[in-house]
Amino acid sequence: MIVTTDNGYELSDFSVDIFEEGEYIKVRVECFADDRIHVPFHLYNQGVIDKAVESDSKFFYAVLARMVTETLNGILTSEITPPDKCECQDHYWFKTHPDDRQEYCRTKSGRIYPKTHTIKCPNNPANRRKKNG
Ligand SMILES: [Zn+2]
Repeated sequence: MIVTTDNGYELSDFSVDIFEEGEYIKVRVECFADDRIHVPFHLYNQGVIDKAVESDSKFFYAVLARMVTETLNGILTSEITPPDKCECQDHYWFKTHPDDRQEYCRTKSGRIYPKTHTIKCPNNPANRRKKNG
């Protein structure tokens, strides 16, 4: 499914993730946004359900279904704006980090764009995961 927003973004590759976190069940909807001009990016929206609701399964499924819809709608009805660029995307970065490297992605339409972070950027989620073990 591809949805085109009012300000010209094509949203695609929707995914829904439902997972437990402490006392809550979280619903995370993620998608890919591309306006074919700027660097495309992933965006997400998250909904939270109290785990207590789970004890009544019928009620829980109803709440869950509504939460998925709400979370998805939250993305579709919000104004899509690209995230702020990280400092590693500045061209000065490689002067102070000569051993770092920029990675690239390719969209389904074949356009190549730089990833949000360089390989060694401390803000790269892959590096954060490593640090936490
Ligand atoms: Zn970065």
